[in-house]
Amino acid sequence: MAWERKRVFIVVKTYPTPATKGTEVSCTAGITEEGSWIRLFPVPFRFLDEDKQFPRYSWIDVTVERASDFRPESYKLNPDSIQIVSSVPTDKAWRDRKKIIYPLMRHCLCCIKREHEAGGNSAPTLGFFKPPSIRRFRMKSCAADWTQTEKMILSQQTFGFTNTPDRILEKVPFDFHYEFRCPHASCTGHAPKCSDWEIFQAYRKWRAKYGEAHWRAKFEQRFADEMIHKFDTHFFVGTLKAHPQEWTIVGLFWPMLAIQGDLPLGQ
Ligand SMILES: [Zn+2]
Ligand SMILES: [Zn+2]
Repeated sequence: MAWERKRVFIVVKTYPTPATKGTEVSCTAGITEEGSWIRLFPVPFRFLDEDKQFPRYSWIDVTVERASDFRPESYKLNPDSIQIVSSVPTDKAWRDRKKIIYPLMRHCLCCIKREHEAGGNSAPTLGFFKPPSIRRFRMKSCAADWTQTEKMILSQQTFGFTNTPDRILEKVPFDFHYEFRCPHASCTGHAPKCSDWEIFQAYRKWRAKYGEAHWRAKFEQRFADEMIHKFDTHFFVGTLKAHPQEWTIVGLFWPMLAIQGDLPLGQ
């Protein structure tokens, strides 16, 4: 397998988890210039030098090699090779972002799963769709702290990066889920976990800012009320290497609802 240079539009960044091959990694995915899905790993995001910490919805150039992962979009990246090219703004209900992402839109999660089951090893393990409606947002309490093993992993300094984060990765004591149904009579409903970095960051930031008594109202306003009723919410979904049949929400896509009279998206 050979290293190659690719230009990638980053759309997914999940909150990091302790990983045995390296201290912490997040699922990072994007769309290539040719319009295909690509998953990049390992991305020890907090360990990257500041000029390499790419924001979501930016184009980056990166040197990659096809990974041994069975998932067809997976590429290993050389973290030193990351170059941020440009960011794509939110103007006109995220029009320019939609132009890049919408060609990969699928009908619903059931259709994505069916495509995956029918396509075997060559079928995409990343997907994008807009649920017709979202039934509800749920937060479930989970472990308040990392296990001893996870702590050990997180305190390793194995990357050889010059930039070591000041603090150990914070354990967020909640799992976040969205419940929805696809527009097919056969769909029994879905309630996948959401691992978008943004939702975890919002929890950390707002708990620090508003305190234990008040963060929850602010948090639920954004991720329940607004995500369900105010924004034109779409989901990025993906499977995990260890659980190839399990789809989780790896990213939220939430432009404002398009204003009437706005130009429709060209093909
Ligand atoms: Zn469908
Ligand atoms: Zn369904």
